[in-house]
Amino acid sequence: MKLMLTCEHASNRLPAAFKKAVPAEVLKTHRAYDIGALLVFRKLVRFAKPEFSCEGKFSRLFVDLNRTITNKSAFSEYYEAPDARDKAVAEKAKAQATAYWKEYRDNVEKFVQQNIGKGNKSTASKDAEIVHLGIHSFTPVLNGKVRNTDIGILYDPARPQERAYAQVIKDEIKRLYPAMKVRFNYPYKGSSDGLTTTLRKKFGPRYVGIEIEINQKFFK
Ligand SMILES: [Zn+2]
Repeated sequence: MKLMLTCEHASNRLPAAFKKAVPAEVLKTHRAYDIGALLVFRKLVRFAKPEFSCEGKFSRLFVDLNRTITNKSAFSEYYEAPDARDKAVAEKAKAQATAYWKEYRDNVEKFVQQNIGKGNKSTASKDAEIVHLGIHSFTPVLNGKVRNTDIGILYDPARPQERAYAQVIKDEIKRLYPAMKVRFNYPYKGSSDGLTTTLRKKFGPRYVGIEIEINQKFFK
């Protein structure tokens, strides 16, 4: 089994071509990136020494690496903002964003492709060959509602392998930190559009994709 760690929403940086489109104060918020996720991700990389890891280098307001590129929400409303309204500028930024998205996704898929399905196929083994942990964080209050959870573990309930790994992760967190509130598929569903969902479809049951969602209150 090989471990892959990723952090799609690590950064709030913008490339030069898109810099004027997003107000500086928005860049400091959870809308631009997953506050604290990079900190946890880098600690995990040092600690767990995964066979493969990668992190996003631009804000999701430029392009969301955790959305299919054909999903409208891959591109933020700032493509419509006054400074980006000039059509040529917006189109150029979008082309750059698409290329960046593709490079990130290709890099991840290449690793999975090269490390999956090489076992004895005649046994039709469904043992996990890649375990992918995507590290994310969520804002503690959304639209005035307090999210009463510390860590969310997102997986696809239709996949027994993922359910088993999610349970192991939850048990281990509870063993180490008994007071921690851990919930499955909260605050989002593991089966929604995202990197893990794409990889599940492409690579089948030997790929196990789990997202860890950490409450940003820990980083304040
Ligand atoms: Zn995220």
